[in-house]
Amino acid sequence: MTYHALTEAEAIAYARQLPDLFTEGSELVSREIGDGNLNLVFHISEPSTGKSIILKQALPYAKVVGESWPLTLDRARIESEALMIQESLCPDLVPHVHAYEPELALTVMEDLSDHIIMRRGLIEGNRYPRFAGDIGRFLAHTLFYTSDLGMNQQEKKERVKRFINPELCKITEDLIFDDPYTNSPNNNVPPAIRDAVEQVWADTALHLEVAILRDKFLTHAQALLHGDLHTGSIFIKPDSTKVIDPEFAYYGPMGFDIGAVFANLLLNFAAQEGWSRDEASRSDYRAYLTGTIRDTWTTFEQEFRTLWNDHGVDRMAATPGYQDWYMQQVLRDAFGYTGSKMVRRVHGLAQVADINKLEDEAAKERAQRIALQIGTSLIKFNRQADSIEQLLDIAEKAV
Ligand code: ADP
Ligand code: MG
Ligand code: MG
Ligand code: MG
Repeated sequence: MTYHALTEAEAIAYARQLPDLFTEGSELVSREIGDGNLNLVFHISEPSTGKSIILKQALPYAKVVGESWPLTLDRARIESEALMIQESLCPDLVPHVHAYEPELALTVMEDLSDHIIMRRGLIEGNRYPRFAGDIGRFLAHTLFYTSDLGMNQQEKKERVKRFINPELCKITEDLIFDDPYTNSPNNNVPPAIRDAVEQVWADTALHLEVAILRDKFLTHAQALLHGDLHTGSIFIKPDSTKVIDPEFAYYGPMGFDIGAVFANLLLNFAAQEGWSRDEASRSDYRAYLTGTIRDTWTTFEQEFRTLWNDHGVDRMAATPGYQDWYMQQVLRDAFGYTGSKMVRRVHGLAQVADINKLEDEAAKERAQRIALQIGTSLIKFNRQADSIEQLLDIAEKAV
């Protein structure tokens, strides 16, 4: 089958011939539910049995700019391979992949429609007490076992080759590390905060830190990252967390994934003047968000150190002082990438609903200024960080 974007009828025909999923000859229904800009997502269901699956197909271009921005279909392979590696490490935290069809750039996976996208859940003011433990464990296991600490170094190099992902990394390199720090046509600068954005463009001390963070993103093949771990890539319900959409997966610095989670919790934190009914519920919800960051880091660090102590692959991993040094570097990177991922969501190309869906213009402006303040402070402080409490202090001081 040569590549073409599937119609709903073709998606149904494709699903029908998959082994062991649906009843022969029964009626199937398809809905295209993709909310992204790069892919089609078909929900295929069998009303007679209630069975369903998801077909995610990569498009050869980014929808956001019409067909003029070509994007490799190989990212469907990267996504399906990353999901399968993650499933082998944390089977309860990702959708099961039933099949991958390279010709069509198509991944067949478990339907998670009983979950909701976490960004929406946070905007609705929900709390997810399992989340910190789940995502902390996801980060510890996926990052440890794909790094030189948890896998044989020669096998790891073979793994790195499969996850170079230059085109998707280029999107990150431009949209996160470059455009927000200069007057680029890719930015969407909110007029109300132009003054604060111009300060970002003029701040050379900030630019140096961003250049160093970008250098690590470009060169530090530390672990297999998810690469796009924002709250729109997390499906959630009170008793379950599922990480989806790892098409940006590549070998990079661990702090980049950790920072993505923290940044998106803090973007919601920044926007609470618009989402909370009153001051008491606002500070309560903000405390829930900062508590979630603290618990995520604590879980990550504990589990990562335990994996290291129990499953480190070689003698060098036991070098006295090495583990403490390593954890501190990961924490520092997490500060820097948290900041980078916040700043780009304020005035970069792709922004977040937590802020942009605010109807009250004053609340929106406050959210943008708070997010910029937290983001730039974290970037500037990153190389001095030695405790997660400092990250929470920086956040709390900004509101
Ligand atoms: P993109 O890479 O285009 O952002 P995503 O993988 O994030 O694609 O999927 C886009 C949307 O499709 C999700 O926000 C979700 O609503 C829906 N979706 C994706 N995967 C699943 C799944 N396994 N189960 C149910 N819905 C899904
Ligand atoms: Mg999406
Ligand atoms: Mg997505
Ligand atoms: Mg995606």
